[in-house]
Amino acid sequence: MRRKIVAANWKMNGSEEMVRTLLKDVKSGVAGLDKGVEVVIIPPSLYLRDVQQEVKGSQLRLGAQNVARWQAGAYTGEVAAEMLSDFDCRYVLVGHSERRQLFAESESVVAEKLQQVLGANLNVMLCVGETLEQRQAGQAEQVVCEQLSSALAGLQGRQWQQVVVAYEPVWAIGTGKTATAEDAQSMHAVMRKQLAKLGAPAEEITLLYGGSVKPESAVGLFQQPDIDGGLIGGASLVAADFVEICKALE
Ligand code: 13P
Repeated sequence: MRRKIVAANWKMNGSEEMVRTLLKDVKSGVAGLDKGVEVVIIPPSLYLRDVQQEVKGSQLRLGAQNVARWQAGAYTGEVAAEMLSDFDCRYVLVGHSERRQLFAESESVVAEKLQQVLGANLNVMLCVGETLEQRQAGQAEQVVCEQLSSALAGLQGRQWQQVVVAYEPVWAIGTGKTATAEDAQSMHAVMRKQLAKLGAPAEEITLLYGGSVKPESAVGLFQQPDIDGGLIGGASLVAADFVEICKALE
């Protein structure tokens, strides 16, 4: 059975005050939510400890936005996968388009980071997605399949259980333009086929959609057979909206 997940990627937003107030409202909002739905909070790394305290004993889980591609050592400013594991992080985002574009993270960097996450026994949320130019040129499926191959080729057996994939078309992130439920479903089906080609137990892998998900669009997206949840940016900063999105997955 695939896990159902709604994850809140706060990106570079938040404060100690926001951790307290937002999480208080999210915790009470999702109390009573179907236990089969995992709700993951992914704050900036400086607030991991604060969020860890807040989510203890609740249905919420913790994730990290970034990780070093090295295990340990002289890498000023970096955070190692093992350190994230000390904070009870269950998931780590890898390959987010903002990291790929703004921090020039190449496919090989993405693959190295993914290996660090798996090596620390954490779960990876691998983000993939095409740009507007690539979509307009009819290359969307090819781009996404190549991103999956370069990050995941060679994974073995139990490692696949540590993998969640998020399809986040770059043109939909922060733009208010959500992919239609049909377009997103069609890409998710392609992704599942590609995962099978890579040797994954594709039917068991959780696939999320991300990109301007709002309460109004969440229901239609989550009804699709290959969409197992969402990776939420802007709407995860508004408790009422985020809770509504979580409920859309029940
Ligand atoms: P938005 O929901 O703000 O478009 O962000 C999506 C995203 O990038 C989540 O990782």
